[in-house]
Amino acid sequence: MNDLDEAKKIVENSDKIVFFGGAGVSTASGIPDFRSATGLYNKKNNSDFSPEYMLSHEFFINHPDLFQKYVLENLIVDGVLPNKAHYSLTKLENANKLLGVITQNIDSLDKMAGTKNIAEIHGNLRDYYCVNCNTSYDLKYYKENIPCTCKKCGGVVRPDVTLYGEVPPQDQFLKAINWIKKADTMIVAGSSLVVYPASSLINYFQNGKLILINYDSTNYDFMADIVIHDDIGKTLEYITEDINEG
Ligand SMILES: [Zn+2]
Repeated sequence: MNDLDEAKKIVENSDKIVFFGGAGVSTASGIPDFRSATGLYNKKNNSDFSPEYMLSHEFFINHPDLFQKYVLENLIVDGVLPNKAHYSLTKLENANKLLGVITQNIDSLDKMAGTKNIAEIHGNLRDYYCVNCNTSYDLKYYKENIPCTCKKCGGVVRPDVTLYGEVPPQDQFLKAINWIKKADTMIVAGSSLVVYPASSLINYFQNGKLILINYDSTNYDFMADIVIHDDIGKTLEYITEDINEG
């Protein structure tokens, strides 16, 4: 049996799957991977700052207006839709085979595809809040009010995403660890696993089958039971094609 069919068999025989996804899951939806060579890092911007620095806690504190503008122009992408990868995961959840989806992405595409159990370990771009009084705001308010300040106290409003130099949201992180510990199958896709906390999360998976799906090889390939270097959407669609949603 080849690796792809072996992965299919593992998924069909499991009802405690946890999925861990990185930027590669969303690239087919047109979301740029800002850490990749073709992504945001290489995009010319009219600024003396690197994109990594512009998405850091330090930059946000020192230049809130520039930060807000940068997020609006580079991270918030209108009209994107989930792809085969997201829909395959929703299918697994509907068939009661999936504990949850852990994502490093902030694009809400898993939620849009209909998946319910999601741990967004880098936050999301749906929710905004005042750093001073914690009042919640939505994307519409943020987009229409750059530079965006709080209606109640005048404080700076920011997206609920984890910036460089910040700690990931603990509730999401703990939910992710809980799923990984319970899972008998872990699928990791579209993540190079070099960025914290991805690298630490995978270590919580102790007992079961590890399936890695990624175009390029990763430092964790040696740990995996099955490694598939191919398109994520195509692979997940094939692996889940015989699953009955019930
Ligand atoms: Zn406020």
